[in-house]
Amino acid sequence: MASAEVYPASEPARWKYLDNIRTRAGPLTNPDIFDGQVVAQNMENMKILVIGAGGLGCEILKNLALSGFKDIHVIDMDTIDISNLNRQFLFRQSDVGSFKAEVAARFVERRVKGVKITPYNCKIQDFDEDFYMQFQLVVCGLDSIEARRWINAMLVNMVDEEAVDSYKPLIDGGTEGFKGQARVIFPTVTSCIECQLDMHAPRAAVPLCTLASIPRQPEHCIEWAHVIAWDKEKPFPKLDNDDPEHITWLYQKALTRAQEFKISGVTYSLTQGVVKNIIPAIAATNSVIAAACCNEAFKIASNCAPCLGMPGENNYMMYSGNDSIYTYTFQHEKKDDCPVCGNLARELVIENPEWTLRELVDSFAVRPEAQLKKPSIRSESKTLYMQSPASLEEQTRPNLDKTLKELGLTDGQEIGVTDPAFATVSFKFKLKFKQAAA
Ligand SMILES: [Zn+2]
Repeated sequence: MASAEVYPASEPARWKYLDNIRTRAGPLTNPDIFDGQVVAQNMENMKILVIGAGGLGCEILKNLALSGFKDIHVIDMDTIDISNLNRQFLFRQSDVGSFKAEVAARFVERRVKGVKITPYNCKIQDFDEDFYMQFQLVVCGLDSIEARRWINAMLVNMVDEEAVDSYKPLIDGGTEGFKGQARVIFPTVTSCIECQLDMHAPRAAVPLCTLASIPRQPEHCIEWAHVIAWDKEKPFPKLDNDDPEHITWLYQKALTRAQEFKISGVTYSLTQGVVKNIIPAIAATNSVIAAACCNEAFKIASNCAPCLGMPGENNYMMYSGNDSIYTYTFQHEKKDDCPVCGNLARELVIENPEWTLRELVDSFAVRPEAQLKKPSIRSESKTLYMQSPASLEEQTRPNLDKTLKELGLTDGQEIGVTDPAFATVSFKFKLKFKQAAA
């Protein structure tokens, strides 16, 4: 308990400025009933859930603990890798291989007296509604869109209009390189993560013909080596992204091709980045975004100032450090055709009326408005394609090669789509056929 011996002397001082804020009346407090002690007490009793104990999560846990929250819970299924240590500052070399949630919780508990952090070393999908119902606030520091969509759907579905306690504000932070965002969602009341899905469009894939015939960028040469040359030459039985020998092979192939087309910039680390689809993690971006998220948590919990996400107000703050520094805060509007919080079917443009069902199924993964990797599809009258169970898959597989027309799908018709990643949600889409060019 070395740390406990170091810190007691500074304990009262540590909370002095925090208490100045939360024990004084603010613009949102009702002067007749305001009691600063009650506010502080409520914050301490509040159960707050943090999802993710990585780059953002470490920052969020530290900030929340220093903001006066005392009952914090954290979920993360990952273990610590040596490459995390440059920014996930709650971890040390001796922690490599241990669970992130576990180590982060113990570290913050040691450093901030009186804070209890309960770690869960598992997936968010391992818990049900009853588990999530116990929290008053959820803060996400995730790097996966799928996990965000899952927890968003869970929190929206949990809302019971009769029970005030069933509304759990969701604060979501995200970063990508020098860019990031912080947003607040009041489930069913304001725009949800699914409403905002098109803000996170999957990166445009480079057409295969560009890779094969006229590469313009170093990345194209690497993708060419990765997708085309590897398949043709099969230098090793199976590509292992973590095997330096394999990456070296791709790098040299890409380099030769780049020289052929007079393209510069192919390096070993770029090859590694493209192949593993790595986005550089910037510690400073994480701390900016985590700070914004935790300020919102503090404001929601204490009512000391207006927070993001009040109905009709701004709910989305974007930050970019790409070109100097820029932030912009705006209101993202709730969508009536949101598959999670709306009730209208969303329009789904069919590029080519001659499409087969297989082309439609494959298109779901890359459509910014859908992003579903394993969709099962049914029309109003029949099941068109099911990914599971195996027997049903086999039975519906012949449909994949039929055209939409042959299956009786016409303009304006509604289809229902489900995906194993979102067990509770059925996505409703309304087909809109683009007219074939004359
Ligand atoms: Zn929505």
